[in-house]
Parts: sequence; C-alpha cells; structure tokens
Amino acid sequence: MIRATGRFLLLLLLITGLPSGLVLTARPPAAAAQALPKVRLVATGGTIANRSGVRLSPAELVRLAPAIDRHARIDAEAFANVSSGQLTLEQWLQLAKRISTILGDDAECAGVVVTSGTDTLEELAYFLHLTVRSDKPVVVVGSMRPPDAVVFDGAANLVAAVRVAAAAESHGRGTLVVMNEEIHGARDVTKTDAQRLDAFQSRGGRLGAVDADRVSYARRSEKRGGPQTEFDASTLSALPRVDVLLTYQGAPGDLIRAAVDNGAAGIVIATAAGGTSGTQLEALRYAMSKRAVVVSATRTGAGRVVPTGEPGRVLAVPGTLGAEDLTPIKARILLMLALARQTDPRDIQRMFREY
Ligand code: ASP
Repeated sequence: MIRATGRFLLLLLLITGLPSGLVLTARPPAAAAQALPKVRLVATGGTIANRSGVRLSPAELVRLAPAIDRHARIDAEAFANVSSGQLTLEQWLQLAKRISTILGDDAECAGVVVTSGTDTLEELAYFLHLTVRSDKPVVVVGSMRPPDAVVFDGAANLVAAVRVAAAAESHGRGTLVVMNEEIHGARDVTKTDAQRLDAFQSRGGRLGAVDADRVSYARRSEKRGGPQTEFDASTLSALPRVDVLLTYQGAPGDLIRAAVDNGAAGIVIATAAGGTSGTQLEALRYAMSKRAVVVSATRTGAGRVVPTGEPGRVLAVPGTLGAEDLTPIKARILLMLALARQTDPRDIQRMFREY
C-alpha cells in the first residue's frame, strides 16, 4: 500500500514536474540573494495586518507573502499598527521623515514599501509624494481582505509592491500605490469601491501594471512630486488645520464659520466647478476676512476648478483659489503643506497648478 502510494506520487511528479508551490517557496541561494535589490518595509497597520482582530507584526506579514524573497532582500520595521484613519498628522510627518532617512542613509536600499489601511491610503500616499524628496520609489500598499479571509489579496499585493519598489523602472516617479496588480500615481488614485478587490482607480488611468514577467509602465504623471517636490517634511513640526466642507443644496454657511472660528487656516470647499449653495458664499467671505485661504475643489470626480477671475469660474468669492482637478481630500493635503510654509495665495495657486 505504502509502495503503491510512493509510486503514485513519483508518477504525479513526473507528469506535473515539481509542484509549483515547492519551487516558489524555495529560498534563493545565498550568492543570488546578495545580488537582489534591498527593499525596506515600513508597516503602519490596516486590514492587511489584521488577522481576526489581532494585528500581525511586519515579520509575520512578510512570511505570508509567497516567495517574496525571490524579488528583494527585505528588512521590515513597525511604524504603527492601527487602521489608516487612526494615524495622526503628527505621525504622517514622522513617517515622511523616517522614510526620507531610510532612503537617504542606506545607499543599498532600492525603495520603501509602506503597508497601510485602505480607507485613507490615498491621502497618506499623496502626503508622502509631496514630502519625500527622493528618486527612489515609495510604494504604498494595503488589502481589501484580512489575512484569514478565503482570498487574502494582501499576500499578492505585498509581493507586487516589493517588485515595484525594487524595479529600476520605478525611479523618479515619487510615491506609487500598488493594489490588485496595478500601479497608480499617488496624486490621481482614489478608492472607488468600499468592498471589491479592484477598489482603486486613477483619474486618467493607472501608470502601469505588475505582470508575471516584469513591472511595466505605460505613462508618467505630468505633475510635480517625489524628486521634484519643494516641500520638506524635515523642516515641519506641525501641519495647520484645514477643513473640507461640501457644497450641497441649501448647505448652511455656519459650518464654514465654525471651522474658521475653531482655528482652520484653510478651507477646501467641495463644489462642482466652483459654485456654492445656501449661505456658504457669505460664510466664505467671512473666512477670507479672517485670513483663511479658501480653495474650491471639484466633487464631480473629474475636470478642473479654475481660480476666480479666470474665464470659466462661476459664482465665487473673489480670491478663492481653484484646486485644478485634485480631489477635495488631496487639495486639503496640498493646502496644509502650502500653509505650513506661510505662502501667499498667489503662490498657493501656483502650487495647485504644478502638483
Ligand atoms: N479599516 C481599514 C483601514 O483603513 C480598512 C483597510 O485596511 O482596508 O485601516
């Protein structure tokens, strides 16, 4: 019986070749491993590390990603272990500084992978794109399913993120988001589905894809960020309060007034193309009289909001700025960084054109 089973297994091996799982999980020989690029993983938490309510350590997470060590030598460190929405703005600043230090100090490090929850992942990614000035890539990754789900997309996403961080083609592109085998630019990516595995999309399309043979890019962003950013997290100790308020039918202006009275230095108003509703116009005049900078961003999902005074801008308080085609939540991040440098509105409008 035992001999029969043995013969059967031998036959199976001859027919199918080595089981692919066996080949894939084999560690590369020591010399080959030394030749691999080095990637640093910085873990912040999120669903990707959330097994049955117990969050995984970075080392445990790496062990769940099949054959990840065939693509890079990975050092992993824990920055935080929380859901994305629980990260504070102070932690964002610390994270940007930490990543800049890793990329600057370790000449061998090809890039950094940051694991994150997906809820606010696009915000963290854009913040890092604006504050980590390096040619080396920063790749933000998460998962839509936890490690103990029937299908854990985090394992494949993590391997893909490491491949992107290790790829020479990723140089000079700033911060990227890798989910579901796709590569997105931090500026244009948005979570567009609360549940599905293909939850992330970019306005204007993805930058590239992580295919079986190679990491392949189709296009490059025209906007500044990454190596071309003018912002420097190392010079910042805090970010000013900027609030996002939504325009909808009959929207009351007292919410805008409350934001300013509670210390908001900037207001992003999410409109269609700049027009407000209810008593918001009057409240925006109040905000500007208190020296708050007001930026209008589109809530439509596409298209630009142009500055007041320019052709095409409707119903706006003179002096409000236009966020171009940035989403309201990303406009808030750029405005926080702009105001942290105490720049004047004309210069802030320039930033909205360039970033
Ligand atoms: N609640 C989680 C978070 O953003 C969701 C996720 O990770 O996908 O941390």
